[in-house]
Amino acid sequence: MKCRKCPGKAVLSIPRHNTALCSPCLTEYAHAQVERAIGREKMCTKEDKILVAVSGGKDSLALWDMLRKLGYQADGLYVDLGIGQYSIRSREKAEAFAESRNATLFTQDATPDESIGIRELADLVRRPTCATCGCIKRYQFNRTAVDQDYDVLATGHNLDDEAARLMGNVLHWQQEFLEKQSPVLPASMEGFAKKIKPLYRLTEREIAAYCVVNSIDYIVQDCPMATGSRLLVYKEALNVIEQASPGSKQSFYWGFLDQQRKKAKSDQPSISDQDRATLHPCEECGQPTSATICSYCKLMAKAKIHQKVS
Ligand SMILES: [Zn+2]
Ligand SMILES: [Zn+2]
Repeated sequence: MKCRKCPGKAVLSIPRHNTALCSPCLTEYAHAQVERAIGREKMCTKEDKILVAVSGGKDSLALWDMLRKLGYQADGLYVDLGIGQYSIRSREKAEAFAESRNATLFTQDATPDESIGIRELADLVRRPTCATCGCIKRYQFNRTAVDQDYDVLATGHNLDDEAARLMGNVLHWQQEFLEKQSPVLPASMEGFAKKIKPLYRLTEREIAAYCVVNSIDYIVQDCPMATGSRLLVYKEALNVIEQASPGSKQSFYWGFLDQQRKKAKSDQPSISDQDRATLHPCEECGQPTSATICSYCKLMAKAKIHQKVS
């Protein structure tokens, strides 16, 4: 298989663009897609301080690598969830990446008590592990971004992630979540950092190939807690459709984004705007919440009560 852009040998075929690329052309293509995402959605500039949410997996490490190579000021934050070997190994990957590239990586523990991981915490508060994990990660990332004066918080969500999420939101007509599903969420006065997803134009497969070509060593294993998640089912379904009809994934998600843009031009306040209007600082920690105490502090309070009892 030959590269469609140069005389080189192709390492990856990309049916949705009807092309095949060699290693250097693949890197160039990935960088161009990220630049286009950033420009199109006005995500950030080279003057902005960017904090990348790093998990040790392919998406977040590839994102960090690309932003740095493209000349953005990007540091990383790793939240250690205390999920046994999985967390130990993913933390090692994140730290090794930072060290080899002389990049700044913050690391934080998900729970104040090192002996309690996310699984134990979820059991204590009787909530699903992934919901507990999501709550903690959102909190830690936002708090660090705001406290350390970062302009933007970047996550490695790719086209597969966003299309699968869209499918879930459409299947269950989650109007409120549909409103909020965007590759860029603005900062708010109430203390939410601006959030961006610069990989929304690249698929999982393309990002994995980018990592191989650019010698990025990542943890291949998915989070063991995510097994059986509905999002994985939607991804599989979309892959079946994509195989039969290349380009379906991007036309599904990008088409949705086009619709959202058209809608945003009309003057109707969106649900998320109405939401924002009801936010105020949490009485415990000062982070924005619509309740008296934010869900993170509620979680921690519950866990502490149980700790004292036991
Ligand atoms: Zn080439
Ligand atoms: Zn709080």
